[in-house]
Amino acid sequence: MKILFCTSEMYPYAKTGGLADVAQSLPEALRKKEKVYTLLPLYQTINREKFNIEYANLTFDYTLDGVVHQFDLFINTKNKYELFIYNPILCDRDGLYFDDFGDFGDNALRFGLFSYACIEVMLQMPLDIDVIHLNDWQTSLIALLAKTQYQLSQKIILTIHNLAYQGVFPKDVMSALNISWEECFRPEALEYHDQVNFLKAGIFYSDHVTTVSPTYAAEIQTPLFGNDLDDVLKANSYKLQGILNGISYEIFDPKKDDMIYKNFGVKTYESKDENKQQLLKEIGFVECDKPLFVFIGRFTHQKGIELLIENFNFFKDFEANFIVLGSGEEHYNTVFNNISVSYPNVYIKVGYDESFARKMYAGADFLVMPSLFEPCGLNQMICMKYGTVPIVAKTGGLKDSVTDFTDIDYTALKGYMGIGITYEEHNIFWFMHAIAKALSLYGNHKKFEKISKHNMKVDHSWKQSSKKYIELYES
Ligand code: ADP
Repeated sequence: MKILFCTSEMYPYAKTGGLADVAQSLPEALRKKEKVYTLLPLYQTINREKFNIEYANLTFDYTLDGVVHQFDLFINTKNKYELFIYNPILCDRDGLYFDDFGDFGDNALRFGLFSYACIEVMLQMPLDIDVIHLNDWQTSLIALLAKTQYQLSQKIILTIHNLAYQGVFPKDVMSALNISWEECFRPEALEYHDQVNFLKAGIFYSDHVTTVSPTYAAEIQTPLFGNDLDDVLKANSYKLQGILNGISYEIFDPKKDDMIYKNFGVKTYESKDENKQQLLKEIGFVECDKPLFVFIGRFTHQKGIELLIENFNFFKDFEANFIVLGSGEEHYNTVFNNISVSYPNVYIKVGYDESFARKMYAGADFLVMPSLFEPCGLNQMICMKYGTVPIVAKTGGLKDSVTDFTDIDYTALKGYMGIGITYEEHNIFWFMHAIAKALSLYGNHKKFEKISKHNMKVDHSWKQSSKKYIELYES
């Protein structure tokens, strides 16, 4: 079976969040059984030399709205299943989707071009593909093009990594992208409040839709989590399925991660503490026996940032240290930059720093994820591999991967279920209660260590979930 996996981000080439991790690790896992080609824009920020990316002797044009667009195909010479598309409008930017001034104004055209290019590459190589696997709104238009103007026979699967991002644009992009008004500008297809919605079209035109955890698959069919597409998802529920994401233990493994201070595993657990000590030393903290809480993530409403910001006053009084790493919306960046000077036990780093993130996963005792919603969440899975105990809101994939330490039935615990602290409602009372539970757990160090070691052994690799994708492709 041959799969074409189309994505707008992929680690280590281009990453803004979890999609990049999944786009690297899922194809890697699937390749044990299937032939999986990945197709990614060759953004100008990608270092071609470092990653052995070379021109693949294919250049083609596509004319849209009277404009001729040129595309060049590139390939990773060390892994010939990794393909890249270069087109100046799509790729020559400082960011993937936005810069300091906000979203790029031509994202509809950029990812429309990418969608045409994916189909053209598949046909012109030719790749002899059976299934096209799409990811999020950036590649959703492929489903529409495949089923309308190209009339392709390939089956299409769309994975929704985050329903909050839908690719909504003014309807005049229809003509710019040469999309049939009559056929596609319909309420059940691309039309959305007199605009166009790429993700909605992807849901309608794909043969199957997956999302990244079973709980999120159910949540998005309700008004609270449906981002105004709950009715669309309910109408398409017959082809909607939740498959829990995995992570790559080739990348996230404290035994071999070369970004952390000292490697460790369950058998060399003592070395975890050295990571904590070194991390605290690096940031200039002196009281190193206190529990260390960390937050890593995009600064956006979804991640529960307000809860953190509004309650920093409380953190200062806890017998604990806190490190926050993140970046995102400008107003949050500013607030965090201002907070960082005011608290002796709080260190804040505004920015994106893969290596510092790994040091935090390795050195922390607890990782907090106060998300309002979380399609799957990878941070909790990563931190558990590094023996760090997650404190999570009971939503989406967090609910499917972490159970509270106070209500565990150890004998019934499934191999993929981690142990942490979970809380029900998104408010300060529940959150502070969760932190207090963490402090008390830390006080019982034997129990803490047992949970930490259990989490290191939990299997969040793609082993189980990739089987579900293979079953799906084969069906
Ligand atoms: P989302 O995709 O919603 O951002 P996920 O939990 O699915 O969240 O994935 C987040 C990924 O991005 C993880 O690999 C996490 O370590 C990483 N990450 C997020 N913010 C940062 C940051 N500021 N620096 C380094 N890595 C980050």
